[in-house]
Amino acid sequence: MTFSLADELRRIAKGEILSDSWSREIYSVDASHYTIKPSMIACPSDESDVEEICQYCFSKSLPITARGAGTGLLGQALSNSIIIDFTRHMNKILEVGTDYVVVQPGLVKGILDKELKKKGKFFPPDPASSNYCTVGGMIANNSSGAHCLAYGSTIDLLQELRVVYSDGISRLINSNSSDREEKDRRITDLLRLLSAHRDIIQKGYPRVTKNSCGYRLDKVINDKAFFPHKIFAASEGTLGIVTSARLKIIDIPLYRHLIVLGFEDLLSAISVVPFILKFSPVALEILDNTVVRYNVSNNSNNINQQLQNEEAGCLLFIEFAGDKLAEVEQRLDSCSDKLSDKCIIIESAADEQSLIRMWGARKNALNRAMKLTVGSRKPIGLIEDTVVHPDMLYDHTQQLLQMYSENKLDYVIYGHAGDGNLHTRPLIDIHSQAETQLIDRLANKVFERVIRAGGTITGEHGDGLARVKYIESVYGPEIYCLFREVKRLFDPRCIMNPGKKVIQYRN
Ligand SMILES: Cc1cc2nc3c(=O)[nH]c(=O)nc-3n(C[C@H](O)[C@H](O)[C@H](O)COP(=O)(O)OP(=O)(O)OC[C@H]3O[C@@H](n4cnc5c(N)ncnc54)[C@H](O)[C@@H]3O)c2cc1C
Repeated sequence: MTFSLADELRRIAKGEILSDSWSREIYSVDASHYTIKPSMIACPSDESDVEEICQYCFSKSLPITARGAGTGLLGQALSNSIIIDFTRHMNKILEVGTDYVVVQPGLVKGILDKELKKKGKFFPPDPASSNYCTVGGMIANNSSGAHCLAYGSTIDLLQELRVVYSDGISRLINSNSSDREEKDRRITDLLRLLSAHRDIIQKGYPRVTKNSCGYRLDKVINDKAFFPHKIFAASEGTLGIVTSARLKIIDIPLYRHLIVLGFEDLLSAISVVPFILKFSPVALEILDNTVVRYNVSNNSNNINQQLQNEEAGCLLFIEFAGDKLAEVEQRLDSCSDKLSDKCIIIESAADEQSLIRMWGARKNALNRAMKLTVGSRKPIGLIEDTVVHPDMLYDHTQQLLQMYSENKLDYVIYGHAGDGNLHTRPLIDIHSQAETQLIDRLANKVFERVIRAGGTITGEHGDGLARVKYIESVYGPEIYCLFREVKRLFDPRCIMNPGKKVIQYRN
């Protein structure tokens, strides 16, 4: 009697193995434009299931791709082989300490937020998709959001991980991993490799506050310390599978004040970003008039009705927060006073309900951008996540606008202005060969400029399938060669989410 692959996996794992065509259809898409049908889906019930599945796949050289909620925008969670879905069973909060939380990867960020709030705490990275996305996906993409301006991205708050390697061996990984008696060979080899190249790592990374491109070797090693667990952040499941994570959590500030300012146009709003940063806001976000107009024409109640009456072409959302009311108010007042001749105040609020409502307008920007699809004209996302230093944001935006105008393209621009991280999508007619050929040309032009300015091609959304071919151009051949070495070290048979992060190789 012969067993099918699905039967084999059912024999070794306690969780469900789905191989019916309906399930395969559902898992064939994420929030990108790709469609790739997996051969089957495993829903592990615990870490030992993950170990068994990996061990089996390693022995047969079968590719494995971990999956959270599938909200990745670049095809990160898609594969034609085996998908491991963590949302069904491995979705719990395991421990809440005073300044940390331990969670399983399939936990939805919004559920974590609710639980932490009861204790007056929060885990700062706040993707607009937080009602759906999982902590595992956030780690693997190094997600961030509006408030990362003050608190950092997921990688900055990662304290420790449990990981299952491609051969099914599981390990706890933290800053002490290379000192332990029972040494983890992969981690000691990683330390040796990165120590030998410390110099090029220190010099070769973009000078920006957020970055999800390639592997974040710059966060793994510095002159004083080694943080091996951080190699898994931004790695898109290509080095190992996370089965639990210890994350730093922070006290919710006692006072928060959000002000929404209306500017005549995008460039006048961008021009004041470096000035506003001097007042240390915890968030500084931008919405261009495409999204603003959408809010008005759909009678959205997100921002004050004043928007209906004013000629605000572009909005800046600025939040100040802290535990001393006088300090928060002083920063807000000095900042808004000095901007009074350049903009109008659309709304200013400090109560929680208003803040939730107002942030809703910013949070829905991508959903709204997606709805700009008309027939075969779609908002295309290849250049949608670049980061430059905020001082260079004005020039970068000006060049983007010029490029859109030269090519007669409609577009949307919004994002994390304070970090220099713009989300922009041109509307492209995907049935027009001339326009689709334009996508690569625009990307080459924009990426080349961003890299020359010391920026990165992705601040938080990651590389996935769409941007993998551009990674080498960000870091150059030496660092890219290190990425390949790192991949070989952790995944010698190239079975962990192949085709992502490093262009495919097989030994
Ligand atoms: C409307 C919308 C708004 C968004 N807004 C933001 C935003 O503001 N900021 C932001 O940063 N991102 C944003 N995103 C992108 C996306 O939501 C985030 O990257 C999110 O964290 C992905 O989580 P997920 O659970 O959906 O992961 P998935 O898409 O399922 O997977 C993402 C990657 O994680 C890997 N992975 C998942 N679980 C594991 C695991 N246990 N071990 C190893 N690897 C694993 C997968 O293999 C894949 O490579 C947005 C997306 C949408 C659709």
